[in-house]
Amino acid sequence: MSARFNGHNQPKIRCNVCHKLTTPNAGGGTDLCAKCYHEAGLENEHQDGEHKGAPNPECPMCKEAGTVEPKEVTMARGRAADLIDYVRVALANRTLPDIIEAHLKDQFGVEPLKRCDGEAHGNAHIDNCGTCMPRWGWTGPRIKVT
Ligand SMILES: [Zn+2]
Ligand SMILES: [Zn+2]
Ligand SMILES: [Zn+2]
Repeated sequence: MSARFNGHNQPKIRCNVCHKLTTPNAGGGTDLCAKCYHEAGLENEHQDGEHKGAPNPECPMCKEAGTVEPKEVTMARGRAADLIDYVRVALANRTLPDIIEAHLKDQFGVEPLKRCDGEAHGNAHIDNCGTCMPRWGWTGPRIKVT
């Protein structure tokens, strides 16, 4: 077996953490893929106390500790009732989701949900995702009624 060492044809290795195929370059010469290498760096920072008082939303350990606040939209009770009423009428009229989303954004400042690109959704062995928790597969601000 001959491996050619040049920028375009790096020998493939398996990431030590997520077992995806990667190249030694991706993880700065470690046996990690770029993503796991990045997360390992964040975990080091976390363990050194660099996230104390300033949680990093990308850091898996901050997420686990629950110190990263989920994005929220706050809304007065009457306004939330208007929103629910609008959605119920729109659904009854079989309004297209795109139109409902555009209306919610314009009238209520609620951004549409986005597909979560968390690693968990590409891996059948992971059944929790810190990025979109508690929703599964969708991220976006939660609505908090005040
Ligand atoms: Zn990895
Ligand atoms: Zn952290
Ligand atoms: Zn997710």
